[in-house]
Amino acid sequence: MIRRSAARRPRITPRAIPFPGGAAIFRRMFVRLGCRGRAPHFDVVFYPYAGLSHTIRLREETAEARLSDLMRGAPLDALEAAAAVLLSKLYRLRLPADLARRYRSFADSARISRRVERARRRRGRRRHSGPQGVAHNLENIFRWLNAEYFIGRLPATDLGWSVAPWRRQLGVFDPGMRHIVINRRLDRPRVPEHVVAYVVYHEMLHLERAAPLHLRTPAGALAHRDYRCRLGLHTPEFRRAERQFRQFHLARRFLLRAGLW
Ligand SMILES: [Zn+2]
Repeated sequence: MIRRSAARRPRITPRAIPFPGGAAIFRRMFVRLGCRGRAPHFDVVFYPYAGLSHTIRLREETAEARLSDLMRGAPLDALEAAAAVLLSKLYRLRLPADLARRYRSFADSARISRRVERARRRRGRRRHSGPQGVAHNLENIFRWLNAEYFIGRLPATDLGWSVAPWRRQLGVFDPGMRHIVINRRLDRPRVPEHVVAYVVYHEMLHLERAAPLHLRTPAGALAHRDYRCRLGLHTPEFRRAERQFRQFHLARRFLLRAGLW
């Protein structure tokens, strides 16, 4: 019997546009950055983030990279530089200065700035129902968490409750939209504030880690400024930071018991 192999089929979400030539670019940059060992399998897509944002994550042997769809048709130079930026973050490597320059000059170019602005306006609509819920106000929670855990240095962020209750996730930070949305199911008086705060805190940790990638340049484009920043979603470091939340165990226990986890 011959079975068709499904293993190598790229994972494509509905909004993503496949970029078949992307894998070769990433493999080349993998070598260029001096990454040791075997390269992962690369799945590369263009993704309609609100701005010029890109993400990468490792899932076992596959690195899933999403380049902003604003890079479609970009010169090879710029695509290579963007791949290098993502790989340097994933593997915590220094980005060579020439690649950093290449990426920045692309991101700062007027043409891209205009496209970014247009995309922002088009997609910048809020996909949540605002921070004031029935039982909890996310803005207040964000404010005191920012003061208490982040010495107030996290940027003001668009916050809101999900429009509909979600089944599978408690909250989300979208690096493209730069917003934090919390599952409406937590907006009930019987859910203690520290439980909502725990979920917001978790998303704020993502915001903190993503922030350097999305700094605004004077030209209005988004550029990567701090090449030492880390990506990785829930790295051991992230998990350690998460446990700094004072009611960490209490909040998780509540979520488990309530069947929300
Ligand atoms: Zn997370």
